[in-house]
Amino acid sequence: MTNREDRLIDRIRKKIPSAAGGILRAGIGDDAAVLRAPASSEWLVTVDPFIEDVHFLADAYPPDAVGWKALVRATSDIAAMGAMPQLFLLSLAIPAKRTGRWLDAMLAGMARAAERLGLRLAGGDTAQSSRKNPKVSISVTVFGTVQRGRALLRSGARPGDAIFVTGRLGAAQLGLELILRGLHRERRWKKQLAAQFYPQIFPGLAAWLAEHRLATAMMDISDGLSTDLDRLCRASGVGARIHAATFLSANVPRELARLRLDPLKLALHGGEDYGLLFTVPKRLASRIPRAPGDVPLTRIGKIVPGRGVRLVAVGGSSSLLVARGWDHFSKR
Ligand SMILES: [Mg+2]
Repeated sequence: MTNREDRLIDRIRKKIPSAAGGILRAGIGDDAAVLRAPASSEWLVTVDPFIEDVHFLADAYPPDAVGWKALVRATSDIAAMGAMPQLFLLSLAIPAKRTGRWLDAMLAGMARAAERLGLRLAGGDTAQSSRKNPKVSISVTVFGTVQRGRALLRSGARPGDAIFVTGRLGAAQLGLELILRGLHRERRWKKQLAAQFYPQIFPGLAAWLAEHRLATAMMDISDGLSTDLDRLCRASGVGARIHAATFLSANVPRELARLRLDPLKLALHGGEDYGLLFTVPKRLASRIPRAPGDVPLTRIGKIVPGRGVRLVAVGGSSSLLVARGWDHFSKR
């Protein structure tokens, strides 16, 4: 008779790809995973928590979206440096009431993300959350590899570089606004919730930028463009000038007006999109639209000497952009 934790680990390993082989010499089943160091490569590692009532609301989130997003948002940080995601560790604390169908669905969502991203589970740990605080708490550690010296940092942007972003800025925030208004139960909003529940990332594009030395700096947009572009500029010791007209669609979706949401604020300060933000020397910028994969790309402005991010409004006037994205330590 195996104990409960062993049975739970068995359920997890049956659902999520975890077979040893290649760079994973020994995975689940031993006390620690044994990783082979790939020749002429470097390891990248990052950890990301995904906690009920802090990062997601269990009542609003489909359980498979919890598994999908927990893995995708952690992997986003590896991809955003131009590395290929390889392995992950899962640390899971769940209340007893969620160990049945909820857990199966959550693991199915995580397995789907693992397959999409080419990730294998190398190990982890499970526990039951305390009765006093019966919440789901997921911690994901992701390992990636990149050719030695090719990882893209935030600090490489230079004046004159073009600034690109992927995806639709503010799409995930719109989903969150719907949840906060209790509208996520209505079928007609389903499409607008996808970016919040099932964010998409593009490690292939990011690796292509690193491999061909096209980008000078890169990061993912997790806390909103205004905050993350400010971080990139500070790390590089430069400023930026971006144009609202490039990322603001001319016809504002009717639903935004109905919800009294300002599309410019959503695009500038909305978090959780996990799109890529990267800079490219001007002479190489024409190669970016020919990137592999069908990734929506937008050139939003350029890096300038000095400090601060200036926003050029659709009308042409320019003003200093204050970072107002997600701040984990501010009270809302
Ligand atoms: Mg990041």
